[in-house]
Amino acid sequence: MRPASGSAPPPRVALTVDAEHPDGSRCRAGNDERILDALGEAGVRATFFLQGRWVTAHPQLARAVAAQGHLIGNHSHHHVRMPLLSAAGLRADVLAAQGAIQEVVGVDPRPLFRTPFGTGRDDPAFDRSLARLGYRNVLWDVDGADWEADRGVGAVLERLVAGCLGGSGVRIALVHSWPDQTAAALPMMLDRLRRAGTEFVTVDRLAPDLPGPAAGTGPAAPSARCSS
Ligand SMILES: [Zn+2]
Repeated sequence: MRPASGSAPPPRVALTVDAEHPDGSRCRAGNDERILDALGEAGVRATFFLQGRWVTAHPQLARAVAAQGHLIGNHSHHHVRMPLLSAAGLRADVLAAQGAIQEVVGVDPRPLFRTPFGTGRDDPAFDRSLARLGYRNVLWDVDGADWEADRGVGAVLERLVAGCLGGSGVRIALVHSWPDQTAAALPMMLDRLRRAGTEFVTVDRLAPDLPGPAAGTGPAAPSARCSS
């Protein structure tokens, strides 16, 4: 759907998924697959930030993310508050996740990094530490708060839709791979955003100065295909 000449541009949304070990009680098995299926059925390419330990625990799922053509970033290995680590500890954690992603998925996640819990936001020293490892910290504009155990499907859905449609420019929306609320809300969210004319993009389109793979390189390389 394209707006008529002269009208407001369509909403643009970069949907990002933090794929990680669950951090809550409302997380039935299989939510990761439901989220992947919803994206596939809607034809939406998202950006997945993979936790290294999650990748080693769920190699087939991690490979399926890349095989479906989603963009891959690094979400640390142990999912700790990164600015609390020593320089050597930070480097070891980031490189451990990078190694797991490269070995299991066959994709280099650089330059995309998302810091756990949003820690290090507006911290130039943290940004410099990441830059030395070849990374940029990718934060978000819209948070469905899907990680809160007592937040229902409807509340998550409304927060996400309102946040994605309520601002100007590209909105970076954050969801997680494990909550029940996300698996239930995502198909409805994607449908409503589509009907509002939303254009979905991946985060590499947002910052032209990001180094790394050229935009539009498309689905994952053959080495990243799911093996079964
Ligand atoms: Zn996380």
